[in-house]
Amino acid sequence: MRSLRTKMVMIMVLLILALMTVVGSFLINGVGNYYIDAFDQQMEQTFSQDFISQLQQLAAKPGGSAQQMKQLLMSQSDLGIDLAGRNVYILDQSGQVLDSSNQANSVEMTANLLTAMNGKVGLGNSIVSSYMDLAVPIDGGSNHYIVYILDNKLTVDALTSQLLAIILRSLVLGLVVCVILAFLLAQILITPIRALTTGTRQVAAGDFSQKLEVTSRDEIGTLTRNFNHMSQVLQNTISEVENERNKLSTLFLHMTDGVVAFGPTGLMIHCNPAATKMLARNLDPTVTFDSVFGEDAEFQKLLTLKRSEYLECQKRAGDRELELFMAPFSSDQSVGGAMVVIHDVTEQRKSEQTRREFVANVSHELRTPLTNVKSYAETILSAGDDLPPELRNNFLGVIVSEADRMTRIVKDLLTLTKFDYGKMEMNISRFSFAEAVQNVHKAVALDAQNHGHTLTLDCPDDLPSVDGDRERIEQVIMNIVSNAIKYTPDGGKIAITAGTAGKSVFVRISDNGIGIPEKDLPRLFERFYRVDKARSRESGGTGLGLSIAKEILNQHKGDIRIESVYGEGTDVTITLPIGA
Ligand code: ADP
Repeated sequence: MRSLRTKMVMIMVLLILALMTVVGSFLINGVGNYYIDAFDQQMEQTFSQDFISQLQQLAAKPGGSAQQMKQLLMSQSDLGIDLAGRNVYILDQSGQVLDSSNQANSVEMTANLLTAMNGKVGLGNSIVSSYMDLAVPIDGGSNHYIVYILDNKLTVDALTSQLLAIILRSLVLGLVVCVILAFLLAQILITPIRALTTGTRQVAAGDFSQKLEVTSRDEIGTLTRNFNHMSQVLQNTISEVENERNKLSTLFLHMTDGVVAFGPTGLMIHCNPAATKMLARNLDPTVTFDSVFGEDAEFQKLLTLKRSEYLECQKRAGDRELELFMAPFSSDQSVGGAMVVIHDVTEQRKSEQTRREFVANVSHELRTPLTNVKSYAETILSAGDDLPPELRNNFLGVIVSEADRMTRIVKDLLTLTKFDYGKMEMNISRFSFAEAVQNVHKAVALDAQNHGHTLTLDCPDDLPSVDGDRERIEQVIMNIVSNAIKYTPDGGKIAITAGTAGKSVFVRISDNGIGIPEKDLPRLFERFYRVDKARSRESGGTGLGLSIAKEILNQHKGDIRIESVYGEGTDVTITLPIGA
């Protein structure tokens, strides 16, 4: 690539060369023509009719007339015979030199000489020939002569060569000046262009910080100003695009819905962490639509959908239930690919299921006592006075106990609902954990005794206090101990142990009762979940006790853990943080 500077120098040099050639040739031509015109004029002036008559008279004289003619001619100052290279010749009719001013005895035959030999004046000169001449036939009666003036253009040549030398010198000088000027001009042009080049390179590399200095008000100045404006606009646009991209990528990164995008060939181009988690597989760029969603939809069909259309389908991935929304997206003219939005509906389905089960459970739990109440009441009604009073009282007792049971269920449900809606009011105070445990022990001692259980208490008096709702905490412990009493065959052993562990206090209620099968352990805190339904109902349980206990302990930042061996016994441990 030729630099701008070289190009400018070359243009200047060619310009000067062309200029000098044109000027030189015009000058040299002009000088040549001027001399020919001057020569012709001189000759015409000198060779007037009178002068030719004089020559004819001399020619008519017998003998020596050629020399006399030469003398006469040389005496004519207008002819300029003294000039360098200009001579006069007297020739006879055949072109033989009879006399001459330079003692030469022959001349070259020229066109003008031939014209004169034919009896006419030969005066026609061209710029290209190396001489100028004039041949005049002199008719001296019996003697015929030709007067021939030959100018070898020595004066013209000398002038021309001098002119050439001047032109060459000016050419060299002009070239030097031109080269220097071209360099300077190029420098003036190149400096801002170089700055622009560096600027564009930096912009291409993503650096928009630098502003180019505008040094002139010409086109380059305008270009520099426009460049600065362009890079500013570009920077703003890029930062806006960057912002948008960051917003989108933050959205993609943190959104709970999964998003996977596929290119037009079906290869994955983007996915977010939620999608990876939901699909439970690693999504790298080699993954295709078919390998992930091939069973759910046809990629090519998906690409033919209109912009507003989308496909919706369900998918199972491991233990997760997913809802898929698929839609194509397009770039400017062509199909860009397809986007799949994944919605994890596992929890939603589970909670729908739980809600259904819950409603079914509530209905079931209330229906049994209601049926009992109804049938006993109907029996009393239909039997009337026939029913022995003892049986009647017995029936009325069942009605009352079933009503109590329903009241308990409704009360427990209300408690749980309050927890669900965060409306449960807590009466928080600092109280002695040891006292609470001892209180419960006292309260259940009689019940345990009635069942023939051995109830032991190991609770140091100096246990740290806890912050919480004392009544509810006691209710929780009571519930657990009651369960131990209920689910241990009469004559069992129940131990209440309290103590501290790190920053918590705990109470453990151990029994050697019926125990809980391992498979049921994770579900014990579900509402209405019972291992042994008949036994629970028989003993007045609602199946809500452990759920309520868990809610209360959660509110206190405490914990409840159940360990059990089926047929051997159960350990329930409650922990609460020590009051700060
Ligand atoms: P319930 O009112 O039926 O006692 P809970 O929520 O208190 O309801 O207990 C849930 C279920 O856990 C009970 O139905 C019972 O099957 C089981 N369970 C609780 N405590 C014990 C225990 N100490 N021994 C054996 N089974 C127990």
